[in-house]
Amino acid sequence: MSEQELGITESKEYATGDWYAEVVQKAKLADYAPMGGFIVTRPRGYALWEALQDRLDGWFKETGVTNAYFPMFIPESFLEREKDIVEGFDPEVAWVTHGGHDELEERLAVRPTSESIIAPFMAQWTRSHRDLPLRLNQWCSVVRWEATETKPFFRTKEFLWQEGHTAHEAEDEAWNETMLRLDQYERLFEDELAIPIMRGRKPEHDKFPGAHTTTTIEALMPDGKSVQSATSHYLGTSFAEAFDLTYTDEDEEERVAHTTSWGLSWRSLGALIMTHSDDQGLVLPPTIAPTQVAIVPIWQEDTKEEVLEYAEGIAGELEAAGISVDLDDRDERNPGFKFNEHELNGIPIRFEIGPHEVEDEEVTLVHRPDGESIVEDREDIAATVEAHFDDVYDKLYDAAAENLEENVREAESPPEILGTIGKHGGYVECGWCGDEACETVIKDEIAAEIVMCPLDRDEEPAQEECAICDDAAEETAYFARTY
Ligand SMILES: [Zn+2]
Repeated sequence: MSEQELGITESKEYATGDWYAEVVQKAKLADYAPMGGFIVTRPRGYALWEALQDRLDGWFKETGVTNAYFPMFIPESFLEREKDIVEGFDPEVAWVTHGGHDELEERLAVRPTSESIIAPFMAQWTRSHRDLPLRLNQWCSVVRWEATETKPFFRTKEFLWQEGHTAHEAEDEAWNETMLRLDQYERLFEDELAIPIMRGRKPEHDKFPGAHTTTTIEALMPDGKSVQSATSHYLGTSFAEAFDLTYTDEDEEERVAHTTSWGLSWRSLGALIMTHSDDQGLVLPPTIAPTQVAIVPIWQEDTKEEVLEYAEGIAGELEAAGISVDLDDRDERNPGFKFNEHELNGIPIRFEIGPHEVEDEEVTLVHRPDGESIVEDREDIAATVEAHFDDVYDKLYDAAAENLEENVREAESPPEILGTIGKHGGYVECGWCGDEACETVIKDEIAAEIVMCPLDRDEEPAQEECAICDDAAEETAYFARTY
């Protein structure tokens, strides 16, 4: 590959969509599958998913969740037991009608989500209050047959996710569970992905079908669009009623359980790639990067041996400290090519080691996000690198936080809402009467929607009047364009 083919040619600022697609492909994260709407996740992309999975799965298990696995096919009669789900997902469901040459007696849905197959089993397994709380999670893929343009990790018919399903005796327990999972999603974004988020509640007309409350974390992308990054639902007793998820309490009374469900998909990878990457390629925080340090030795024939030996010593020391290192000693590539390639691949820190570094017992260290170059002592190099990981993380987080801070604006009328989002993107905060029709006014004009309302239903609205119809505001709405 020539240097030009290797590099990113599209501009993040001026052609965000094309740029994103190019970064995903050239950084070898994913390719397009032969069927529209599907992607092939390459090892580099999958490694990111695994890193994220590893964090979240650990936190789930620390807080009482166990993993299970349910079939990818769901009998039609099961989906129909919860009418709200069918209504919500029906046009997006893919159906299996044949097995081999034989038509099936009952169609099987490819799971769009698994409430309708998990809940009946949770009901079977729950007899008394001693069986609760019951907390299950599964890592799997689901299919939603949406006819939209394929956008790797953001828009695909099949996507990877986790779905957690829990049952509890009391409403407050189930509500705490809903919040605990939302907190864990927030922690993933804030502490691992270097993405500050907004947390809130979906408006009534946009919550998960059948849910009492749908909570969400929203991340603002550099192009001004919001990504719904994870949702956590308090389902009340509606699913438990539909699936007979009942238990006997301490007084032998039969009661209906309160349930929750919560999910995070690989869309979070899309948000990660989109937020930090630049016109040189992928940018990753050190917390999640599969390779954290690239060492590029720079030698002439007469210095090769000493430079390589010095670099190997450093690589060994970093690896012993648990840091993942790529010592790039390829003969056939020059250092400039290697720099570009490691930048494209988003390796957070690069070491440049030549005869000068060897002689002075130093290391030249370069931060991927901004190219800042610093000379450090060879001694205690692992501890030094850890400190630089924190610096790189802070640079990424601060830039994203600045973008978010600057892009939440108030507006008081439809022209103001339209003008503000049209010009700047980001979130518009305004008073809202609670009527979906007022959202439609904005949606029809610029495809912006209410992405969230404050979590606390009792919070005073930002303005006294609905910014669209001038009726009394019931709550605050945040409008944004979305992915
Ligand atoms: Zn209104």
